[in-house]
Amino acid sequence: MAVQVLGSGGPELQDKRASTSYLIWDHGSVLVVVDAGGGSALRFGESGAHMSQVDVVLFSHFHVDHSSDFPALIFSSWFEDRKRPLPVFGPPGNEFMPSTTEFVRDLFSEPHGAWRHLSELADPGSAGSYKLEPHSVVAGPVPVPVFRNSEISVYAVRVIHGVFPALAWRVEVGGKRIVFSGDTNGEGDGLTRLALDADLFVAHNAVPERATGVERRLHMPPSVIGTIAANAHVKRLVLSHRMLRTLGKEDETQAEIRRSYSGPIAFANDLDCFPLQ
Ligand SMILES: [Zn+2]
Repeated sequence: MAVQVLGSGGPELQDKRASTSYLIWDHGSVLVVVDAGGGSALRFGESGAHMSQVDVVLFSHFHVDHSSDFPALIFSSWFEDRKRPLPVFGPPGNEFMPSTTEFVRDLFSEPHGAWRHLSELADPGSAGSYKLEPHSVVAGPVPVPVFRNSEISVYAVRVIHGVFPALAWRVEVGGKRIVFSGDTNGEGDGLTRLALDADLFVAHNAVPERATGVERRLHMPPSVIGTIAANAHVKRLVLSHRMLRTLGKEDETQAEIRRSYSGPIAFANDLDCFPLQ
C-alpha cells in the first residue's frame, strides 16, 4: 500500500512540478484520487494507473491547481472498460466556487457543459456509459463519514482556505490512516482531529514562516503544520504543494516544524511513492 504524489506543486508553472494530485495504491491498483491539478493527468499515466481501477475521487476544493485536469482523467476513462459508477466527493459551493455537483454538471452536462460531448457520463437516463456520481459534502470541524466500501473508509472535515469552501480528507485502508490537509490556513481544530494518529499526513507547504496578508489567510506556515502534526501524533509528515516562495527554504521550513514535531519529514516531488507497511 502506498500514497503516490502525482503533483507536488501549486499553481505556478515555473516550478517544473505538476499541480496538486495524489493517489492511494493498494495491491497494484489505484483506489483513490485526491485532487487533479494541471499536469497531474500526464503524471497519472506515467504512474501506470488506470481510471477503471479508481473507487472514488476526492476534491479538497476547486481552485484550478486542484481540479483542472479532471476532464482529462475523465476523457481518458472513456476509452477504458469501466462499468461501475465513479463517486466524486468535494465541498459545497458559495458565491466564489461551484459545489461539487455544479462543478461536474458545468463540465459535462447537457445543455451548457463545456465538455457536453461527455454528457453520457453525467446525465441520468443517457445510456452507453458508466456514470459520475458527484456529491457535495457539508462538513464541520468534527470528522464526518463520507464513503465506505469493502476496502476503504473516507472521512472529511471543513478547513479554512480564505473564502473558498474546502475540505481535508482522511482515507482509512488496510488499518492505515492517510490524511490530506488540502489548502488551508490551519485555523480551528478540525484538521488536528482528522489527522489524529495518522500513519501519513500530507500537508501543504505553500507559504514560508513569515507569510502575511492573503498568503497567510489562505495557507498554513511551517510552524502551524508542525503544531498540527505534533498534536495529532502523526507518524510521518509529507510536505507537498511546494511553491516558488517555499522551494529552496527547506532547511528553514524543517527547523520551524521541528520546534514541535519530532517525527519523520519528507519534501515531496512528482511521482514520489510513500509506502505504508
Ligand atoms: Zn492550491
